[in-house]
Amino acid sequence: MHADILRALPAPACAYVYDTAALRARAEMVRRALPVAASLLYAVKANGHPAVIAALAEACDGLEVASGGELARAVAAGAERIVFGGPAKTDAELSAAVAAGALINVESVHELRRLASIAPTPPRVCLRVNRPGGVLRGSHAMTGTPTPFGIEEAQLAEAMRVPGVTVIGFHLHAVSNNLDGAAHAAFVRDCLAWSVRTARELGIALQVVNVGGGFGIDYLSGSSMDLSPLTGIAVPPDVDLIFEPGRFLAADAGAYAATVLDIKTTHGRTFAVLRGGTHHFRLPAAWGYSHPFTVVPVDEWPHPYPRPSAENCLVDAVGELCTPRDVLTRGQHVDSLRAGDILVFGRAGAYGWDISHHEFLRHDPPAFLIR
Ligand SMILES: *Cc1c(COP(=O)(O)O)cnc(C)c1O
Repeated sequence: MHADILRALPAPACAYVYDTAALRARAEMVRRALPVAASLLYAVKANGHPAVIAALAEACDGLEVASGGELARAVAAGAERIVFGGPAKTDAELSAAVAAGALINVESVHELRRLASIAPTPPRVCLRVNRPGGVLRGSHAMTGTPTPFGIEEAQLAEAMRVPGVTVIGFHLHAVSNNLDGAAHAAFVRDCLAWSVRTARELGIALQVVNVGGGFGIDYLSGSSMDLSPLTGIAVPPDVDLIFEPGRFLAADAGAYAATVLDIKTTHGRTFAVLRGGTHHFRLPAAWGYSHPFTVVPVDEWPHPYPRPSAENCLVDAVGELCTPRDVLTRGQHVDSLRAGDILVFGRAGAYGWDISHHEFLRHDPPAFLIR
């Protein structure tokens, strides 16, 4: 994958490759799997590269943003619809969201009051709710447990008494990286039933139920959440059911590649030391798993000295940072690996560069290649 363009880079190579055709194909695949009436937004925080945002703004119905910075990029990308969430919005961010015509997911009663005092006319908003129960298995649970996200169900009546805003629905994003499609479909059905019931109790004319993102991909096995259980979900008439996945749309459209600078064995372990590392691709370190790689062999070796190599053994792929935690992969088998070869980490298009600590040690950033 991408072997020729990676070999063509000045050595030592270090690059992210983002494939916009793959992004569009993925969005198309997700759309076909969702209920016909549903809306598909892309959660920008998974990958905020302008080329990625532009491709998915067009391929989806719009974008979900979580900061003023993402909002500005979404506006610049010409997104048709923008939804703005996040528990720590400033007045400036709220004003910018109102000006951009974004649908705001309000995360506390205090935020609702602030928004009402800022907006020139009463804005239409969704309340983000931290429901009891409704828990899905995944890497981060955001509801049904104490978190800074959303309003507790017991406080909804108080929220409804805030003047100067019009509540049109709920935002119920609950989990990241859920791998169980049937459980996800049950979660969505439960969100719809809860929303219809709660809207009736609170006197809301329900227009929007936003069930967030959280469609998972399994980095170890290469599989992804099965979306097919979502297809048959019945959406109540006049309700806009919004999905806003990030990872599932962007992960497979990105790869991170880095040249092997050195290969060495110490105390019985073999290390492939890369021109790159967790400061570019933090996800495996953040989650504590080994991200699989493939090898792009580079045959040229113009140097007079011997080429470090490893045959038929397990190697740890480690980065250029001065910390033993700079590890992307532990103990992956290689048939043959030489200094100068390039390791490619696939499925790196979501929560890769965007969540990494780029400035640590001040190495040069990777190249960004957009196809
Ligand atoms: C992060 C986030 C998403 C996207 O989550 P994924 O796990 O990447 O699908 C969607 N909505 C909200 C509110 C989020 O915070």
